[in-house]
Amino acid sequence: MRCPLDCCRAFGMKTWAALAAVALGSIGWALADGWESGIQWPTPQVVTPAATPGGAPSDATVLFDGTNLDAWDGGSQWKIEHGYAISQGSGINTKEGFGSCQLHLEFATPEKIEGSGQGRGNSGAYLMGKYEVQILDSYENETYVDGQCAAIYKTKPPMVNACRKPGEWQTYDIIFEAPEFDGDKVTKPAYFTVLHNGILVQNHTELLGSTFWDEPPHYEPHAERLPLHLQFHGNPVRFRNIWIREIPPMVGKK
Ligand code: MG
Repeated sequence: MRCPLDCCRAFGMKTWAALAAVALGSIGWALADGWESGIQWPTPQVVTPAATPGGAPSDATVLFDGTNLDAWDGGSQWKIEHGYAISQGSGINTKEGFGSCQLHLEFATPEKIEGSGQGRGNSGAYLMGKYEVQILDSYENETYVDGQCAAIYKTKPPMVNACRKPGEWQTYDIIFEAPEFDGDKVTKPAYFTVLHNGILVQNHTELLGSTFWDEPPHYEPHAERLPLHLQFHGNPVRFRNIWIREIPPMVGKK
C-alpha cells in the first residue's frame, strides 16, 4: 500500500485540502437540505444580551434601574435608596400594560426577621395585576405550601424551596403566558414558568384563574394587556433591576 504522503506529494497538498473542503462542504449542505419542514419561519429579530448576567437585553422595557419609579403609578410613595426601592404604603402598578411576557426582578426580604408565616417578607408580583407569583421570606419560615415564596398563590407550591436568607438579594425570572378569551369563555388558560435564583420552581404551571385570598381562583375576561402590580403587604421588601419583555410572536406559514 502506498503511503498517503506519496499521494500528497504527487497530487499536491493544496489540491487534496481543496478537495476535502469541497467534500465536507457538500456533506454539510446535504445535511441542511436533507429535510425541510415546509414552514416558512420569519427571521428572528436580533437582540443584544446584557453585558452582565441578569441585565436587561436590548429589547426589554426597563421598569426600574435603581434611579426612579417613573414607569409606575404610585411609585413616588416607595422609598428609593442605594439603587433599590423599598415597598411601603401600598402596591404599585406599571403605567404600561403587558400580556405574555418575560419578567426579571430582584428582591430582598427584610434582614431583620419580624413576624412569621405570611407576615414575614410578604409581597408579590401580580402579572396583569391578577396572577400572583408569591414573594415571601420562606427561609426556615413555615406557612401553607401554596402560599410560600415562588408559589402560584393558592394554586401550586414551588417544586423546591430555593430561598436565600433574609436580607440577601434573590432573582425571579418569570415566563408568563396570558390567558385568552372568547367572550366569557376561556379559550386558553394562563401559564407560569418561574426560575427562582436560577432554579426552576414552576414549569409551565396552568392557572385556574385570578389570585384571590379568600375564594377559589377563577377567570374573568379582561384586556390583552394590563399593568404589572407589585404588592405591598405590610413588609418593607426591597426591589431592584426590574425589566420586562413581551414574548415576540413566532408564527410560521405552511
Ligand atoms: Mg403576597
